[in-house]
Amino acid sequence: SSGLYIVATPIGNLGDITFRAVEVLKGVSAVACEDTRITGKLLHHLGIKRKMVRYDDHAGEGDRERLLALMESEAVALVSDAGTPLISDPGYRLVKIARERGIPVTSLPGANAAVMAMTLSGLPNDRFLFAGFLPNKAKARETVLSDLSKVPATLIFYETAPRLEDALTAIASVLPGREVAVARELTKKFEECRSGTPEDLIAHYAAHPPKGEIVLLIAPPGEESIGEVDVDALLRAELALAKP
Ligand code: SAM
Repeated sequence: SSGLYIVATPIGNLGDITFRAVEVLKGVSAVACEDTRITGKLLHHLGIKRKMVRYDDHAGEGDRERLLALMESEAVALVSDAGTPLISDPGYRLVKIARERGIPVTSLPGANAAVMAMTLSGLPNDRFLFAGFLPNKAKARETVLSDLSKVPATLIFYETAPRLEDALTAIASVLPGREVAVARELTKKFEECRSGTPEDLIAHYAAHPPKGEIVLLIAPPGEESIGEVDVDALLRAELALAKP
């Protein structure tokens, strides 16, 4: 049948694709993807030959309209390079417009690095807030962290290995006393999930430079952080009193 099928693909281990995803990818007329080489490899691994169309949200309106027109009469799958489309990946505009036009849209659930990291981390999971990638620039990064500082939920960010140290340093300064977890290379051979204070993790990764893809999680504000902030404030007050 016609419409848009949002299809989650693996985040590392190629076994993490559902039977239904394979059936749908076999049945659609075209697979819209970020990178035809990456999706081509996956389809080849699955023994599927399908027409691929490069698509991301920066694609021109012409490309998007062509895909939308195709969906009116045929089935189109949307996949990203890894994991669940739209989650820090393209697709938002395509889905929004398809829905506005009454094109049937459905989503096949599957691998997602944020949720997998959350389940592994041992951090409170009754409430969590996914905040995508932290900004690159130091000032903007600190603003985002401080805006989220009072949110009573575990915070989840996507990160890359080269930026991990900067992110941990910012957390140490903006959110002192918070437990942090680093989930790395999920579903892959060197999968790890390491937790501790930002300082512990900075020291660890200075000695063992991290590689690969990373999810960074921050525990919700708790008693400890309130305690530490109070101690700091008391110290400052004492220093101020001690000044001549
Ligand atoms: N749509 C994907 C999903 O559902 O997880 C996320 C795409 S986003 C462009 C890529 C980021 O996801 C990486 O920088 C990393 O933070 C995270 N990520 C993806 N695969 C991962 C993995 N195997 N282990 C850890 N983090 C991963």
